[in-house]
Amino acid sequence: MDFALSEEQKMIRAMCREFADEVIAPRAEEVESTGNYPYLIIRQMADLGIMGIPFPEEYGGGGGDWVGMNLCVEEISRRDAGLGIMLDVTLLAAHEIEVFGSEDQKRKWLTSLAGGKEIAAFALTEPDAGSDAASIRCTALLDGDEWVINGSKQFVSNIGLDNCSIVVVVAVSGKNKQGKSIINTFIVPKGTPGFTVGTQYDKISLHSLTTNELIFEDCRLPRDHILGGEGRGLAQHLATLQTGRISIAACSVGLAQACLDESLSYAKQRVQFGRPIINFQGVSFKLADMATAVELGRLMYLKAAWLKDNNLPYTFEASAAKLYASEMVEKVASDAVQIHGGYGYMSEYAVSRYYKQAKAMQIIEGTSEVQRIVIARSLQT
Ligand SMILES: Cc1cc2nc3c(=O)[nH]c(=O)nc-3n(C[C@H](O)[C@H](O)[C@H](O)COP(=O)(O)OP(=O)(O)OC[C@H]3O[C@@H](n4cnc5c(N)ncnc54)[C@H](O)[C@@H]3O)c2cc1C
Repeated sequence: MDFALSEEQKMIRAMCREFADEVIAPRAEEVESTGNYPYLIIRQMADLGIMGIPFPEEYGGGGGDWVGMNLCVEEISRRDAGLGIMLDVTLLAAHEIEVFGSEDQKRKWLTSLAGGKEIAAFALTEPDAGSDAASIRCTALLDGDEWVINGSKQFVSNIGLDNCSIVVVVAVSGKNKQGKSIINTFIVPKGTPGFTVGTQYDKISLHSLTTNELIFEDCRLPRDHILGGEGRGLAQHLATLQTGRISIAACSVGLAQACLDESLSYAKQRVQFGRPIINFQGVSFKLADMATAVELGRLMYLKAAWLKDNNLPYTFEASAAKLYASEMVEKVASDAVQIHGGYGYMSEYAVSRYYKQAKAMQIIEGTSEVQRIVIARSLQT
């Protein structure tokens, strides 16, 4: 067993840490409080090659792996978890095209996403279909040589951004002989007539991630915009989500590491009863538990990413990493506020921001309950 990172993975982590410390951290609080989107930061991330780390060089990527990619997601999220999720969502769309797309689709769409010129969105959730993804109602019906999409999607991250060029959408194209929905996936360029980006949701936190509704009214697409096999859309999407779950685990670990960093430094300088509070076992044991939990979350997402890189099954490990890390970060963020006492509840302290951000990790890309369903199923196969 070898836990050592390769030289390339170490280099990626060091580069992303430096970038996150020097460029992202100074703006994170301002972006969270004003909601002014940090387009320049995304451009700088693209210039560093961050968006393309795991994709083949022939499609504009870095030719790296998912261990390296997720080390990067952790480092970005340590300074701004919303940007970590923005990155995860665009990676998901790009990865679905990489795995299921035709050669033409890869040349046309993956290349610009991997190069970071544009970012992408991923639209599955609907007003009446969240965890129960198979119950989506948005339709895509063939009319001659075109698909016509009607319906709406909700909670679509990235789609409201000016530099988002496409959305990967899942829709129903009819019923099979057993009466089950035939579900397909489509690549829809933003700006296609009949495609409207709706209201931006007013989230309680994570303002560096924009999330909007999306409406389709007779939105016509050329026939070749279907992604992957006919009737395979949902299975493809769910398979891609397994990769996303590794990244949400990495986001959670990054955010939890930030909670630990802030708490450790606060506990060393806050004096009560005549000594720094880190000298009280009640505080230092809390820090010890936080550090242990963060390390376990990190090992879990790295193992899932390593399995993926080695073409081994990773469904159980991805869901377990996502479940553990997302539940862990909520507890760690709560302990971080506790260590800061009353100051931790004040907006000017970063841990108050982290506390609000942590909850989302248990919901995005499959709730904790859905992860338990996936894990329980994998125990029975
Ligand atoms: C910040 C943010 C960004 C998002 N970005 C995107 C995006 O880019 N694209 C996208 O498609 N979606 C996105 N989502 C949506 C997200 O994936 C869904 O919110 C999530 O899958 C849950 O669906 P739901 O909200 O409809 O909850 P529901 O499915 O209605 O669940 C409600 C509750 O019931 C529980 N539950 C449901 N079914 C079961 C069951 N069988 N057993 C036990 N418990 C169950 C759930 O776990 C949950 O606790 C985003 C959400 C958030 C918060």
